[in-house]
Amino acid sequence: MRTITVLGATGSIGQNTINVICRHPDKFRVFAITGHTNLKALVQLAVQCSPRYIVLSDSDAYSSFSNLLKLENCNSEVLVGAQALDNVCSAPEVDTVMSAIVGAAGLLPTLAAVRAGKRVLLANKESLVMTGELFMDAVREHKAELLPIDSEHNAIFQCLPHDFQYGNLEKSGIAKILLTGSGGPFRTLADESFDAITPDQACAHPTWTMGRKISVDSASMMNKGLEFIEAKWLFGLHENDIEVVLHPQSTIHSMVQYVDGSVIAQLGNPDMRTPIAYGLSFPDRITSGVKAVDFSSLTDFSFSKPDKSRYPNLYLAIEACKQGQSATTAINAANEIAVEAFLNGQIKFTDIARVNEQVLQKIDSIELTSIVHVIEHDAEARILAQEIVRKLN
Ligand code: NAD
Ligand code: MG
Repeated sequence: MRTITVLGATGSIGQNTINVICRHPDKFRVFAITGHTNLKALVQLAVQCSPRYIVLSDSDAYSSFSNLLKLENCNSEVLVGAQALDNVCSAPEVDTVMSAIVGAAGLLPTLAAVRAGKRVLLANKESLVMTGELFMDAVREHKAELLPIDSEHNAIFQCLPHDFQYGNLEKSGIAKILLTGSGGPFRTLADESFDAITPDQACAHPTWTMGRKISVDSASMMNKGLEFIEAKWLFGLHENDIEVVLHPQSTIHSMVQYVDGSVIAQLGNPDMRTPIAYGLSFPDRITSGVKAVDFSSLTDFSFSKPDKSRYPNLYLAIEACKQGQSATTAINAANEIAVEAFLNGQIKFTDIARVNEQVLQKIDSIELTSIVHVIEHDAEARILAQEIVRKLN
């Protein structure tokens, strides 16, 4: 029986996680769930999975939330704030933490789980992009078990040999990691239409259903850029080891190319319950509710290179990855500010890349030697990004 905390339970990944967990009451129990604003969804989830604790971000919501919970006869204890988030990740009863808060807000609780040596199911790619080597050092030092939930990294993890040694591609006969991406909703949109893209259009992903921030990142392919950086740290890769391949059908979730010409790919319908189930039950396989691929319906199966002028954010992120930690922390922070401004109607879709590029140009490149340092650098990049947003507005 595994005992699990689900960070960001009300989100797309969080709800899919509870969905898989509830299919296997003999294998999993929920210790805690956490939520930020969607309190109604949090109550429904609590009724569904009876967690011991529920963590809210905002103390103002405590009494109204507790009343909602009483109406449903739910006995979970309600906790509030950042320390409570850390506590439900590091509690001795917990063995697995699903990290599914969106953005930099997920960093500290995820690190709390890592430092407590838990199995950490990493959906929150931003925390690894922000901290890179410091995060991976903490994983090694505290003997945490880090399993990727991002579908591409979960696919790569499944395609690597079982004795793969971190960073040692040569020993395993690996030539390249092929990171696939659908290209999002604007893969074939005419260039002159990009300035008029609305938030709802950007969030209408053709193959995946996800939260709004990652949907915009997928449309701009910043998501693939963040995943490029994520892959580097998760598997100990060099930038030249990773190639991004467009695959609009999202059936192949990524591939490993070996030196003998073999390519091993992981396939499946685009449904996050597959990687979530694999992370929850690793190394075993459990049912997830995802339908098997119907090969007779796969009439089109195509691949191409992502175009630099269509997806400037992808190439900015790869450039930041080559520059190092200071640049990747900065571009992640800038992008969070830019995407929020786009979703609030303050800037155009095409301005997201302008904000990211200008922050990369303006921020001082410094060595980040501690998490405190990372958080300060992240804050500095956010201030710069906000200034640029104001000028664009
Ligand atoms: P979402 O927007 O649907 O959910 C985000 C969750 O984070 C919600 O539970 C929300 O309450 C919580 N949250 C937001 N701000 C918070 C704050 N300041 N403090 C505490 N909690 C906060 O997002 P999602 O699509 O589920 O994505 C979650 C993470 O997983 C992201 O990092 C994303 O990049 C990653 N991811 C998502 C998918 C997907 O298919 N949705 C796939 C791969 C990776
Ligand atoms: Mg992904």
